[in-house]
Amino acid sequence: MGDTVTSIRPYWKNFIGGEWVDGTGNERIVVTDPATGAPIAEVARAMPADVDQAVAAARRCFDSRALAAMRPHQRGEMMLEVARQLDELADDIATVECFDNGKTMAAGHADIALTRRYLSYYAGMADKLEGRQIPLGEGVLDYTTHMPFGVSAQIVPWNGPLPVGARSITCALLTGNTVVLKSPEDSPLSLFLFAEACERAGVPKGAVNILCGYGHDTGAALVAHGDIDHIVFTGSVETGRSVLRAASERIIPCIMELGGKSGGIVYPDADLDRVAKSAARAIFHHAGQICSAGSRLIVHRSIHDDLVARLKGEAETRTIGPGIDGCDMGPLISARQLDRVESLCRVGVEEGATLVTGGSRLAGRPGHFMAPTLFSGVRPEMRIAREEFFGPVLVVLPFDTPDEAIAIANGTDYGLAAGVYTNDLRLAHWTADRLVAGQVYVNDWWTGGVETPFGGTKRSGYGREKGQEALLGYVQTKNVGIRLSP
Ligand code: NAD
Repeated sequence: MGDTVTSIRPYWKNFIGGEWVDGTGNERIVVTDPATGAPIAEVARAMPADVDQAVAAARRCFDSRALAAMRPHQRGEMMLEVARQLDELADDIATVECFDNGKTMAAGHADIALTRRYLSYYAGMADKLEGRQIPLGEGVLDYTTHMPFGVSAQIVPWNGPLPVGARSITCALLTGNTVVLKSPEDSPLSLFLFAEACERAGVPKGAVNILCGYGHDTGAALVAHGDIDHIVFTGSVETGRSVLRAASERIIPCIMELGGKSGGIVYPDADLDRVAKSAARAIFHHAGQICSAGSRLIVHRSIHDDLVARLKGEAETRTIGPGIDGCDMGPLISARQLDRVESLCRVGVEEGATLVTGGSRLAGRPGHFMAPTLFSGVRPEMRIAREEFFGPVLVVLPFDTPDEAIAIANGTDYGLAAGVYTNDLRLAHWTADRLVAGQVYVNDWWTGGVETPFGGTKRSGYGREKGQEALLGYVQTKNVGIRLSP
């Protein structure tokens, strides 16, 4: 272990009711460094009994009206203080992101900056979420207010735990909800540091509860708990289905942020150098482990070979290694994920796609490193064109007409992000209009920020995180009608 690894605390407890506690089963989850496979820390394994305690703490805090009694701007100031405390912990957070998640130090610091932006953006909105007065004629006063749901149960995946978890917690607290969040078992540490920032900032005890356990028991117990009022789930479609089944028992409202197979369309007039750079960033950033990664490129046949050659250059010049070394691309999160990505690559070869580069793990070294991979000549019906790799694999599909490009882009079960590259303004708008996706990027990928609503269509889920729209997912509207006349 290097010096930086040894600076990571060896044991982490769950944060329940404002206290740091062991799991009731006294078991631990070992957290490993995906770049080496070596253990770096242990966390207390939360069991369903710990979920009970966390939900009870969140309920007590909600019923105490500790958050309801604060004016919205005071809740905003509370979250700004959390942001200040995060700054104090920034180096620790970047280090754990590097060692339990495989991110580069730069990406770890970028996650902290992003998290601060969520906190400050929503802190500024806390006192601007207004109801409306509805004119019903003389003698009646009618207005709407926004009510919190109560206890918000939140489940987070391993690829971006800090920003994904922090944005949901922030929206929940600012609207007066309390939270129980299950952090991902593969990369739980950064959210414990977020809990520490909440503790230092004086967030009321029980308003934020963060625990780590496995999905099949602890996660399942949380979403099926009889005393939660709201669910925010970010993860795979398969798990999302099981969360929705549990939610349906008690008619619990959900925000579902699920997977993607997002495609960018490249028309022949696009600047191919820029497209290659943008498309490579869209799939190789964080080794493709991003729900909105640009994992398909739908390319006009006249420029297919030229663009594929440029993309090959982009893939083969990326440096790969542990995040702490400042390489371009780190490892996949786990051996299981590496096996999955590699086996789907084998399917691509069997299906007859052309493997241009990559296609397998980096042999002869520890850790879960996958080579940046490019397939060309892919057809829409192939599994590699329809299934999410969640790894650094780009598939290129040729098209002849704009209608065909749209049909290919919209032709999967997913509908998270989409893109279009062209210098023709009319064609860009026409294409954006026809793409069925929660967000469309033109002439780049990830043009948005915390200000822009983000979410899925179709099997990519529903509800929006980010932007002004997100806050509305954490409140329900109440209408009050008053007869004024005697
Ligand atoms: P996953 O569905 O396996 O796990 C996500 C979380 O759910 C984990 O915390 C896990 O412990 C928990 N979980 C597992 N089984 C559960 C159950 N039965 N009940 C409740 N919780 C359970 O997903 P993953 O492999 O960790 O993450 C990758 C997936 O997440 C990809 O599909 C990716 O596209 C998606 N994702 C989506 C977004 C988005 O904003 N749309 C963001 C990040 C990741």
